[in-house]
Amino acid sequence: MTGAPDSCGRSINYLRVSVTDRCNLRCIYCMPPSGVPLLRQSDILSYEEIGTVVRATAEVGINKIRLTGGEPLVRAQLPRLVEMLCEVQGVEEVSLTTNGTLLSRHALELKQAGLTRVNISLDTLRADRYRGITRLGELTAVLHGIETAQEAGLHPVKINVVLIRGVNDDEVLDFAAMTVDREWHVRFIERMPFNGEVDFVPTSEVQQRIGVLGKLEPRVAPTGNGPAAYYRLPGARGTIGFITPLTEPAFCSRCNRLRLTPDGKLRPCLLGEAEIDLRRLLRNNASPETLRRLVQQAVASKPQRHHLEAGRTNPPDADPERSRRTTGEGGGPKRRMSQIGG
Ligand code: SAM
Ligand code: SF4
Repeated sequence: MTGAPDSCGRSINYLRVSVTDRCNLRCIYCMPPSGVPLLRQSDILSYEEIGTVVRATAEVGINKIRLTGGEPLVRAQLPRLVEMLCEVQGVEEVSLTTNGTLLSRHALELKQAGLTRVNISLDTLRADRYRGITRLGELTAVLHGIETAQEAGLHPVKINVVLIRGVNDDEVLDFAAMTVDREWHVRFIERMPFNGEVDFVPTSEVQQRIGVLGKLEPRVAPTGNGPAAYYRLPGARGTIGFITPLTEPAFCSRCNRLRLTPDGKLRPCLLGEAEIDLRRLLRNNASPETLRRLVQQAVASKPQRHHLEAGRTNPPDADPERSRRTTGEGGGPKRRMSQIGG
């Protein structure tokens, strides 16, 4: 069985698991310089608890798992979790989203544990600018991480680029050009308004700029489950993808995912407000049947679409026992991306 049908005719087969709200960087569009208030360690799900949730989601047809954060590689023994999740019946793929700074140390062990592939966030190819955007990071560490991941066989390596007008949008052509000679799969992501800001670089503008390098030919995805549309420059080894949550009206119609926050809340929608508290149930020995039923409820309650363009998020779930309002009025969710799991 692949995928659980939701009420809008979508098939939900993908769970993004945020393993921590901690991060070793402070990207300017994701966190304030001092970071965000952190969860207590005891509030973060253990690997065993994550395993229990993943067994429940696999039973309803969710067969792909992506680990994210915060920065997932700051959590100790991540390969142990990868190995555990790969053994869950029904799970076909475990992948990772990371800032890449710690990847060179862990890529081989992650591959050996069963990780299939990796997405690496990299918003600039200039060392001084990288330090400026991430406030703490070293570009060379990420480039080394990308190389090590490729050598370890974590294919395809996808590079996620969030464009910020006036900060890195002058590097569109540099990133696009990287896909010609290297097997880089670069995806430009429209910046979402998590902190109230709404300035973003529309995909149509990015595509127009790339046009000077050649005609973009549509391609099928180089594997993946995501919402990106892929293209290739003539003769290029890699691809260029676009993720368009803000400018494509049909974006949400391709949504295939649920999210699990580090503190065990199951979220039907990244940009919504509804959450189902699984941690409380996990710690009260809920039966597998109860967990499975709640996963099915989360799937059924997925909203048809987000309402960011109208300056508001989706309403919380109607049942106050099952959901909790976590976001403010307008301008995107109050929990930041690092607290939900991007
Ligand atoms: N720390 C890891 C990383 O940076 O890849 C994983 C977590 S991070 C929150 C996941 C992804 O969310 C990154 O690719 C990051 O660029 C993206 N992201 C964070 N804030 C965003 C925003 N406001 N709009 C769009 N993408 C955002
Ligand atoms: Fe950390 Fe990723 Fe957020 Fe950057 S985008 S601050 S690396 S969680």
